Amino acid sequence: MSRLVTATIHMEALQHNLQQARARVGGGVQVVAVIKANGYGHGLITVAHALHQADLYAVGCLDEALQLRQVHIEKPILLLEGFEGEEELRAISQLNLQTVVHSEQQWGLLQSLSLKQPITIWLKVDSGMGRLGFTPQQAEALLPELQAHPSISRVVLTSHFANADQPDHAMNRQQQECFERCCVTTDLPRSLCNSAALLSNPTAHVEFVRPGIMLYGSSPFADQSAASPQLKPAMTLQAPLIAIKSIKAGESVGYGSTWVAEQPTRLGVIAIGYGHGYPRQLPNGTPLLIRGARVPLVGRVSMDMITVDLTALAEAEVGDLVTLWGEGLPVDEIAQQAGSISYELLCQLTSRVERVAG
Ligand SMILES: *Cc1c(COP(=O)(O)O)cnc(C)c1O
Repeated sequence: MSRLVTATIHMEALQHNLQQARARVGGGVQVVAVIKANGYGHGLITVAHALHQADLYAVGCLDEALQLRQVHIEKPILLLEGFEGEEELRAISQLNLQTVVHSEQQWGLLQSLSLKQPITIWLKVDSGMGRLGFTPQQAEALLPELQAHPSISRVVLTSHFANADQPDHAMNRQQQECFERCCVTTDLPRSLCNSAALLSNPTAHVEFVRPGIMLYGSSPFADQSAASPQLKPAMTLQAPLIAIKSIKAGESVGYGSTWVAEQPTRLGVIAIGYGHGYPRQLPNGTPLLIRGARVPLVGRVSMDMITVDLTALAEAEVGDLVTLWGEGLPVDEIAQQAGSISYELLCQLTSRVERVAG
């Protein structure tokens, strides 16, 4: 019996999901696989290897790009948050990385340096997200200078939707129009779509799409399962059943005694908890999968253990592997129970969870 909590990473599912992204965009559209935050918790290098057919990778910061270059991954990599300081900018040039430029500070630094190896920059336009980026007016005014600068070999215009997960939201059209107005005076390549926009808005695909969550087999839409866009879960999270015992009606289970048996109950203990990243806020009744059957979580999630009601599953035995999410139990469903989104559940898995490529 293994006490390990494992996340099996399904390489074939990652490739299938990338294929699904590609199948939805035109032949000329380049697919940037977003693998920031340790490949959405799946393991940066594993995911990069699985998604080798992407045109580019996108990560959050230089450190993540360095990890990829260290294992000799040579594909273009985009830094979504740009750079800080001269040293990082020089590293971008030396390592053949591409970078977002979102602020006057970043442009100022870039302007002041002469890079031996000119770089591709992605000029970030704030079309309504209200986070990073130049206003469309600032961007338009900057473009001639950027294009003429010897340290810049190419400019891509980019922006990010705030409400793409709600395809009918009025902001989507407003942001798209705002971005298009700022692009109209140029013929530069553009990029707008995350997974939700890729799946819901073909008019926004333009030259580069940037899917993240869909590659991991999860739906970006609250009201739509991953099965409908034909995505396959890229992770199965499993932990062993380490004890089974019988408790009497009226006995309580776990911290705070938040669950009390209403009848004689066969209780199972599983070796996973919030110390592995399994959300503490999951309520009684959250489903888990044992031998293909759903059983309910009962009592509070502890740091290293959870408890389940096995009364309806007589065949469960100590040593059984329990699926917390993955094949047969969508992470989206568990995220909903936790009042969160799959992104957070996947990203917050700790280093105690062993990632196994499968
Ligand atoms: C994370 C991120 C994405 C991917 O978003 P998903 O919703 O996971 O598809 C795309 N673009 C930018 C700028 C991002 O930060």
